[in-house]
Amino acid sequence: MNRAFYIGRFQPYHLGHHAVIKKIVKEVDEIVVGIGSAQQSHTVSDPFTAGERVMMVSRSLEELGIIYYVIPIADVDRHAIWVSHVRSLTPPFNIVYSNNPLVIDLFSETNIQTKRSPLFQRGIYSGTEIRRRMLADEAWEDLVPKAVAEVIKEIDGVRRLKDLSRTDVPSSATVF
Ligand code: ATP
Ligand code: MG
Repeated sequence: MNRAFYIGRFQPYHLGHHAVIKKIVKEVDEIVVGIGSAQQSHTVSDPFTAGERVMMVSRSLEELGIIYYVIPIADVDRHAIWVSHVRSLTPPFNIVYSNNPLVIDLFSETNIQTKRSPLFQRGIYSGTEIRRRMLADEAWEDLVPKAVAEVIKEIDGVRRLKDLSRTDVPSSATVF
């Protein structure tokens, strides 16, 4: 029985992430998807709430026919305790997939197996590129699973992002 862990911010969840997860589910029995920086929302780089991202990921994974768990994980500002923090919130897992060197490094210090996940068309399958296109009124829907486009439509996500880009001050959390 192998249960894998994969984490991202998923602002939003896109077809690059989905390609990674499709590959992972061929190799394991169940998958735990961590929604990183769960406490963040309503900024230009992190527009969507943890709950909205749970919807995006859950609905996209439904079509894969695997058992999955989607768990929001808030940041802790101490790398040394991050793995314990993750494990305190998630179902137990024995393999971690990531292409983030820090994630690989922190889990390598434990008895959990780590595997490097590949990048798929990183130039376009990128949260930053998708948010840029949303703000520029360019086509972005073909870069995300259909379910994600539906969630973003339901929550009026593009309008939120545009509002945030007018009001968001990068260096400040001040709200007037
Ligand atoms: P952002 O541009 O907002 O940082 P992102 O596309 O990098 O968004 P994240 O949520 O930061 O998405 O990424 C989660 C994980 O998925 C990271 O380890 C990231 O490297 C990986 N990832 C991002 N894009 C792809 C892709 N096209 N193919 C495979 N993995 C990807
Ligand atoms: Mg990233």
